[in-house]
Amino acid sequence: MLTQAPKGTQDMLPQASHRWQRIEKNMRDICALAGYREIRTPIFEHTELFQRGVGDTTDVVQKEMYTFNDKGNRSITLKPEGTAGAVRAFIEAHMFADTLPCKLYYVSCPCFRYEKPQSGRLRQFHQNGIEVFGAKDASVDAEIIDLALRMLRANGIDGLRLNINSIGCPTCRKAYLEKLRDYLAPKLPTLCKTCQERFDRNPMRILDCKEDADKLTDAPAMLDNLCEDCATHFSQLQGYLKALGIEYAIDARIVRGLDYYTKTVFEIITDTPDGTPLTVCGGGRYDGLVEELGGPATPGIGFGMGIERMIMVQDMRGVAPEAPSPLDVMVVTLGDEARMEGFRLVNALRDRGVRADLDHAARSMKAQFKYANKLGVSKVIVIAGDELAQGVVKLRDMDKSEETAVPRAEIVELLSK
Ligand code: ATP
Ligand code: MG
Repeated sequence: MLTQAPKGTQDMLPQASHRWQRIEKNMRDICALAGYREIRTPIFEHTELFQRGVGDTTDVVQKEMYTFNDKGNRSITLKPEGTAGAVRAFIEAHMFADTLPCKLYYVSCPCFRYEKPQSGRLRQFHQNGIEVFGAKDASVDAEIIDLALRMLRANGIDGLRLNINSIGCPTCRKAYLEKLRDYLAPKLPTLCKTCQERFDRNPMRILDCKEDADKLTDAPAMLDNLCEDCATHFSQLQGYLKALGIEYAIDARIVRGLDYYTKTVFEIITDTPDGTPLTVCGGGRYDGLVEELGGPATPGIGFGMGIERMIMVQDMRGVAPEAPSPLDVMVVTLGDEARMEGFRLVNALRDRGVRADLDHAARSMKAQFKYANKLGVSKVIVIAGDELAQGVVKLRDMDKSEETAVPRAEIVELLSK
C-alpha cells in the first residue's frame, strides 16, 4: 500500500515530463494566438456548484464525484471537470462587466472522477480546456474546434474524427422532448434501469445509452426538430468549418444531455487498436449556464481535452516526441583544483543560460564520461591538471568524438552562442 499510488492515479515521471511540458506549451502558444488568457481555479469547490453546474442527473454527479465533508462540515467536491469552476469565477469576479467576449483557457487542470479504472479511464486525470463567455456567433464555435485541432496537430496527432451536433435550445427542446417521450413511452419497459430513471428528468440522455442504442435507432433526433435560430446557428457553424477546410461528420447521437447545454456539441475521437472509440476532446455550447449559476444571461462555449488520452494516442501512433537531454554540457574534472574550477565554470555557464552540470558523486574520470553519455549530453568540457596549468579546457563533441582546446577565458562565450 505504502509504495503503491491509489487506484486510477498515475505519476508523471521525469522521463515523461517533457511530453507534458510540450503539450502545455503548445496549449499556451496556440491559445495566445487567438487572444485567450489563462485561468486557474481551485481544485475543490462547493458540491452544490457541480450539482447545479454539471447537472445532478448526469453520471458524473450521480456516481463519479469525490465528495466529502471538511472539518467545518461543508460539503466539498474535487472538481470533476473544468467548466463549472470557470463559470463560478466568471460570475464571482464580475468578469461579465468587462469587455466581452471573455476568452479563457486552462492547462493541465486536475479532474477527479470515481470511475472504474481501465484503459483511458483514470480517477485523477488532467485536461487542457477553453471557455468563452459572451460570444453567441457560430464563428466562435468553429474557432474553438479549430484550436482543439491545432492543439492535436501541434502534438503530432492528425486525422482524428470530428463529430458535431446541435441539441437545440429551451425553445425548441420543449416540443422535441414531448415528441421523444411519446416515442420512448411504449418502449420504456424494455429499456435498462438507468434509462427508465432518466425518462422523466432527462430523456435525451437515453439516446446516449450504449446498452439500449440498438432499440432506439429510429428515435426522433433533436437535430431534425431545431427552431429557426438553432438551425441557422448550426448551418453557420458548418459554413465556418468549411471555410477553414475542417472535415466533420454530423452525429445526431451526441447529446451530452444537460439542460443548459445548447446548440453546438462536438467530440474529437479516434479508434483504438481493439476497435473501441476513444474520445480525446469533448465540448459544447452552454448558453444557459451562467444564468443557471446566478450570473446575468451570458452565452458560453468550451471544450475539455484529456491530456493522458492525448499521450495514449501519441503512443498508439508512434509520434511521441523524443526526450531531450537534460543538459547541454557536462564538465568532467580530475583532481581537487580542477574540480573547483569546474564548479565555477558550471555556474558561469548557467549564468549565460547554458544547461550545465558536473559530477556530484565522486566518480572517476571514466565514470564521469559514462554518466555524460547516459544523459545524452552532446558536449563535455574536460579540466585536468595539464589544462589547468595551460589556462585551457578541452571541449569534446560527444557525437563526433572530436576534441579541441579552448582558452578558459573563451569557453563560456563560445558555448553561450
Ligand atoms: P467519456 O465518454 O470518455 O467518458 P466524457 O464525456 O465523460 O468522456 P468529458 O466530460 O467531455 O468526457 O471530458 C472531456 C475529456 O476528458 C474527454 O474527452 C477525455 O479526453 C477526458 N476524460 C474524461 N474522463 C476521463 C477519465 N476518467 N480518465 C481520463 N480522461 C478522461
Ligand atoms: Mg465519462
